[in-house]
Amino acid sequence: MNLFLTAGALVLATTLLVLVFYRLSFRDRCPDCKHAHAIERVPRPIVVRTLLFYLPTQYFVCYSCMKRFLRIK
Ligand SMILES: [Zn+2]
Repeated sequence: MNLFLTAGALVLATTLLVLVFYRLSFRDRCPDCKHAHAIERVPRPIVVRTLLFYLPTQYFVCYSCMKRFLRIK
């Protein structure tokens, strides 16, 4: 039971850390400059792929401000 709680907390902490480090967005546009026309889907970083394999995430790059962000479908 205690081990289960520890594992859960660890998973939650990693998820939050990754989501804070890679900008998170729920919409189809850049969270920084709000442009929707200049984004393109790119392969996810290996960190995101391994740590957030259970989340349906998509990784985008915004060519307007050259920033990358993560989107949860
Ligand atoms: Zn942008």
